Amino acid sequence: MGIKWNAKFSSVLCCIFLSVLTVHAQELPYRDFGNLRNGYPADANSWSKDQYADYNRKMALLLIDVVWTFRHLDKPKPDVISILSAPRTPPAWVEDSNTISYPVSFAREMTQLGFMLGRDIYIDSGRRLVADKPVTQHPFFDGHLVKAIDPSINSVSPVFDTNASLITCPQTEQDCLTSQELEGIFLQLFLVAHECGHYVLGHHGARQLDQELAADRYGWDTLQAVAQSFKSQDGKSNPYYDLLLASAAEAPLWYLLQSEAWTHVIGTPSDTQEAQVYKKRIDQIDALADEWDDLPRLVSAFMPETFSDWSLQSTAVSFERLPQLLVVDGVRVSVDEIRKENLRLPSGITHWIATDASGVACQTSDDDEQVALNYQAWTDTDLATIGNLEKAKKWCDVVASTANAQLQPRSSALAAALNQALYYLGAADFVDPDMTQNQEDKKHAERYKGSSIGVKSWGLP
Ligand SMILES: [Zn+2]
Repeated sequence: MGIKWNAKFSSVLCCIFLSVLTVHAQELPYRDFGNLRNGYPADANSWSKDQYADYNRKMALLLIDVVWTFRHLDKPKPDVISILSAPRTPPAWVEDSNTISYPVSFAREMTQLGFMLGRDIYIDSGRRLVADKPVTQHPFFDGHLVKAIDPSINSVSPVFDTNASLITCPQTEQDCLTSQELEGIFLQLFLVAHECGHYVLGHHGARQLDQELAADRYGWDTLQAVAQSFKSQDGKSNPYYDLLLASAAEAPLWYLLQSEAWTHVIGTPSDTQEAQVYKKRIDQIDALADEWDDLPRLVSAFMPETFSDWSLQSTAVSFERLPQLLVVDGVRVSVDEIRKENLRLPSGITHWIATDASGVACQTSDDDEQVALNYQAWTDTDLATIGNLEKAKKWCDVVASTANAQLQPRSSALAAALNQALYYLGAADFVDPDMTQNQEDKKHAERYKGSSIGVKSWGLP
């Protein structure tokens, strides 16, 4: 089924809707969202699958209520089936039973995407957070989410779950948290409103492009109606809410386009019929957003612009020996996953580091179809020799002389040399400033670590 009940999920669920109550737009049922959440154990780790499914269904039903309220509908509402499905299966309106199927894993991904995007928009509105790392300023845009590696990082959740504390705004930053929580709701609202659109507009049979565009339009109009309700409250924040709502319509479509790229033949992912449909849907949202006078910025500015243009390539990886630790472009990758299939990588240079008990292998590939990782043995070298290796920029030799199999320094005296090597090998997230010997080395280490941006810096543990 592909559903993992990751413990970290709770870190999102636990704080959703708590701070959102501080926003006072009249017609969004914040109290109902809060009451729904409070009907389940505080610790989401303890939830059963049935509880997750039940919560998910009731959340969708609440969102349908929102659609009905804002569109002033008097038709009977569709029911919702909460399903456990493979990742990346989007919601769908099932005409025969008049139900919306609402997959748990998809809803979860949308919530997490919303959290990332909500932070992007918050920061972009001229606000700053204490201790902001470059990557956490725009986790949605800079992270490029899932660009690097399939299947190991083929969805948002692994990235989000292992970095939830980085992505989730500090508890002291109420407005930032609200931005994240609202965006998590708005993304789902758009999707639910889209499915309601199919129902309300009486679509029949297989979905055609014109039906999808019409349902998107319905979702968009619903978000605009919600935006209207914010307007009567606080004039100053209008553009901000507008941006949150407008971006919520485009982000899921980017995600679906990206998903389409992963599931198709490498090399031409953007040429499939499905991908063309998503592109046309994104274009429509762009055009609608352009007409929205109050928007302070283009919605497309928040979307990862090169998403559809990445040329993915298949790379077969072979190992002299099976690594204990494999790091691809700074991201730890599960070796088990790779043995089943090739890696898909974006075009360009990729840094590889593999370790086991006996040695380390470093490799740089550039659009290569095959990468072979051959080890050199761990060595004991004196500091003077290590200094010479640094001067000669023999970074793998430096690692072999200073690190253990977890890429940690063998002693604090060796940390500075290792940190520099890791930086040049594209693995700066493995740098540990606290392992350094003095203030100057620590400063360097913090700079190395801080300079890593984008998906390379996520450093999945
Ligand atoms: Zn549709």
